[in-house]
Amino acid sequence: MLFSELGLKAEIQRAVADQGYDTPTPIQQQAIPAVLAGHDLMATAQTGTGKTAGFTLPILHLLASGPNDRLTRVSKTPRVLVLTPTRELAIQVEESVRTYGKHLPINSLAVFGGVGINPQIANLRRGVDILVATPGRLLDHVQQRTVDLSAIEIFVLDEADRMLDMGFIRDIRKVIALLPKKRQNLMFSATFSPEIRELASGLLHQPVSVDVAPRNTAAELVTQKVIETNREQKKDLLEHLFQTRGLHQVLVFARTKHGADALAKRLDKSGIKAAAIHGDKSQGARTRALSDFKDGKLVALVATDIAARGIDIDALPYVINYELPNMPEDYVHRIGRTGRAGMEGEAISLVCHDERGNLKDIEKLIKRSIERVVVPGFEPSATAAPRPVQPPRQPRSGQPAGRPQGRNAAAKPGGPAQHRSGSRHR
Ligand code: AMP
Repeated sequence: MLFSELGLKAEIQRAVADQGYDTPTPIQQQAIPAVLAGHDLMATAQTGTGKTAGFTLPILHLLASGPNDRLTRVSKTPRVLVLTPTRELAIQVEESVRTYGKHLPINSLAVFGGVGINPQIANLRRGVDILVATPGRLLDHVQQRTVDLSAIEIFVLDEADRMLDMGFIRDIRKVIALLPKKRQNLMFSATFSPEIRELASGLLHQPVSVDVAPRNTAAELVTQKVIETNREQKKDLLEHLFQTRGLHQVLVFARTKHGADALAKRLDKSGIKAAAIHGDKSQGARTRALSDFKDGKLVALVATDIAARGIDIDALPYVINYELPNMPEDYVHRIGRTGRAGMEGEAISLVCHDERGNLKDIEKLIKRSIERVVVPGFEPSATAAPRPVQPPRQPRSGQPAGRPQGRNAAAKPGGPAQHRSGSRHR
């Protein structure tokens, strides 16, 4: 199938071709016709499957055509609302809207917490067709009456599972209550848990189901390996891997912000260009690190789980789990960052004695065992005493500790200013 067969407006097809894409990904093949036909949608798909274009393209088409054409109207209250769990994802979704809508007279805007609210208010006043928002900041705008959601025709809930993990469920329900009853709803989630099912049943009306990521199955194209070692040797082992394997564009996961910083510094010191991104970095610093990483100026980007969500990089070849995540689902999200859009990828996890339980949980979730390898010189010692390194597991539905971009953090005013705050086009 080709994009030209999907019946999208010529302006949109041109923008897709400008990106060099001619074949829609499986989720796009299924989602685009369903959305164009006006159906509600429940899509189980991870980042990396092309899901963003899967909803952005048909939405742009619907806005720009049909009897509802209000593109020339004077007062522009938003017609489409996309809710995302993180500011990074909000920025990237809005960037996609701009990329695919560049030949159409459609305005978009991303609003998120941690940056000044006033530029966002000014942009909202100027008129927006497609509003991409994190829940906390959107509700701040609602409270200040600087956004009007009464004309929303299409509502998208992106990464719904992550929204629930971050404790956004009440905010989501508040937002939904503010929307017109008659609207089209699209919901995306990497997993299909009972909580997601419940949310979907209250939100979606006779949805078309699209499932390109069977429940909790790790990406098929990713080669997964576990290197068993000792905690004390992990830093040296990581350095060794970089030096001996000629790795490039490696996304390294650390569990804590402090750990990410320390690791990036250590790599950088040993001549492996690295930077860290996490919730305490200013938006400017994160954007800069990401763009240096994309441009190949950085060999490694060390990230926490939250900061890595929504990072949009084509065909990331390597993911290294310097430490395993607390939640096994996060492992699936992490390795989903490689092996994207048909390219092969490799996910290497450095696992010490204390993390064996986490590894077991992960293997149970992905329903396969991961190949163990030992690197000579870094073998785990048989006598290594287990030491608890993980805080107690958090319930998935609550607001887990260390999730800096939850409701409260997102709404905190006076965070670091950054140039993309409330970015809009045209
Ligand atoms: P997403 O799952 O939306 O995060 O998209 C993953 C990546 O795939 C993004 O970098 C997109 O630009 C890219 N992409 C989206 N659609 C296609 C396509 N049809 N062919 C190739 N790459 C695509």
